[in-house]
Amino acid sequence: MSAIIVDGKAVAAELRAELTSQVAAMTAAGSAPPSLAVVLCGDDPASAIYVRNKGRAAERAGVRFTLHRPRAESTTDELVALVGTLDADETIDGILVQLPLPKQIDQDAVMACISPEKDADGFHPYNFGRLAEGHPAVVAPGTPLGCMELLRRSDMQLQGSRAVVIGRSAIVGRPLALMLTNADATVTICHSRTRELAAVCREADILVSAIGRPRMVDASYVKPGAFVIDVGTTPQDGVVVGDVDRESVEPVAGWLTPVPGGVGPMTIAMLLRNTLALARARRGLAQV
Ligand code: NAP
Repeated sequence: MSAIIVDGKAVAAELRAELTSQVAAMTAAGSAPPSLAVVLCGDDPASAIYVRNKGRAAERAGVRFTLHRPRAESTTDELVALVGTLDADETIDGILVQLPLPKQIDQDAVMACISPEKDADGFHPYNFGRLAEGHPAVVAPGTPLGCMELLRRSDMQLQGSRAVVIGRSAIVGRPLALMLTNADATVTICHSRTRELAAVCREADILVSAIGRPRMVDASYVKPGAFVIDVGTTPQDGVVVGDVDRESVEPVAGWLTPVPGGVGPMTIAMLLRNTLALARARRGLAQV
């Protein structure tokens, strides 16, 4: 057996095309297009590339994109003032502050200026709380949303399945475990203190690795036929390497999301979906 390699690039392109039509339909019906404001502070080259890609994807989908570039030496007060102004601006539907912020900035204080109704990244504690309560939230973090979409579009049966998520961060592991729980999977969250990690993982019909340890997850972690999602991305010798040892896992798994080209491309598509969802909610339109 050899795993089906899940083409995240193709799924993300399909999704962006759907979102583009939804934005076009919304504007054709007389609404202003969704608008996304991004704050990029500092000189991190990776952040600059992410933001450029987000901007391009937004513009192609018909989402109005504005970039704010406060200088790298900005203070917390200056960023709080900027994000507060964007939050109060009625023409803006979604705000994203690209992380990490420079060290001198109190990240929590800045993020707290984004209201739940403009939370394009889905990181706001209110939106996280809705997810934790099992309510459908308007927005949620893009990377776990992307994982769920890959599962759904691969027709994976979630109800009653056993899922194991390695990693418990607030932006990937925890929200993904909640989304899987809300989709009626039985979920175990693992982390750096988990005993017998490989044995726990071998129980999974759906195994997600979101740890950032290159090629750590090999065939000994994988139940034959499992759906394996590799979220990990670690730069190594000029390339991006996932958590999953593809050579070892591919002959055992049923499905495998590759790195690159698996979960990564989905994250931006989900940011656009979040922005459209916020715009619809702010205009009193039903979600699509
Ligand atoms: P993070 O905040 O560093 O969390 C890593 C998690 O992995 C922690 O819960 C940690 O456990 C756990 N962990 C670390 N080493 C482990 C080990 N040896 N065994 C078991 N668990 C271990 O990272 P993150 O932000 O969630 O990101 C995780 C990975 O996904 C990174 O490689 C990141 O680059 C990637 N990522 C990719 C995308 C994308 O779009 N493709 C988006 C976001 C993140 P403790 O809690 O016990 O420390």
